[in-house]
Amino acid sequence: MSAKDYESRRDFSRTPEPEPDDGNAPGRSGGPIFVIQKHQASTLHYDFRIEVDGALKSWAVPKGPSTDPREKRLALPTEDHPVAYADFEGVIPEGEYGAGTVLVWDTGAYDNITEKDGETVPMADALAQGHALIRLHGRKLTGGYALQRTGKGESARWLLVKMDDDEADARRNPVSTEPKSVLSGRTIEEIARDQDPDED
Ligand code: MN
Repeated sequence: MSAKDYESRRDFSRTPEPEPDDGNAPGRSGGPIFVIQKHQASTLHYDFRIEVDGALKSWAVPKGPSTDPREKRLALPTEDHPVAYADFEGVIPEGEYGAGTVLVWDTGAYDNITEKDGETVPMADALAQGHALIRLHGRKLTGGYALQRTGKGESARWLLVKMDDDEADARRNPVSTEPKSVLSGRTIEEIARDQDPDED
C-alpha cells in the first residue's frame, strides 16, 4: 500500500502524526532504519516498519516480534509511512484513523542480508518476491529476521520469524518483559496519561 493511503486516511489538522514529506527531505547518513511501534488502538498490535527507498514499509504484527525461531508471528501489510514516522510517539485523537496510543518499542539500523546466487537482492525486489532477510541492530531486538509471504492474492499473509542465529533466544519474551519506550522510557499508559488534558 502506498504513501497516498497514508495521506488520505489522516486529517493533519487533528492528528499529531507527521505529514508526508515532499520527497525532498535531506538524506540521512548511515544505512536504513527499522522501527517497531507498540500501538494501543482498538486492538493492541506492534507496527513493524523498515526503511526501503525513502519510505517505511509497514506491517501490523498482532502478537509482536519474538526472539524464538519457532514462533511464527503473523504480519499484516499496512500502508507505507513517511520515514519521519519512526520518531512518532504520542496519542492519535478519538475519531482519527488509528486512534489510540503509540510507543516507540524498538528502533535502530538494519542490514539487508537477502542473497541470491551470492548477490544481495535489493530490499524492494526481495519484498516483491515475498522473501526478505534482515539483520536488526536494535536495543531490544538484534540478529536476523525473516519476512516471508505465504499464500497468494486475497489469502496472502506474511510471517515475521526470528532466524536461528546467535541472537535467537527462546527464553526471552521482550514484548512482555521490556514494555517501555526506547525513546522516552515511558510505558504506554504513561504516554496516554501525559497527553490527556483532563489529567493535568
Ligand atoms: Mn498501528
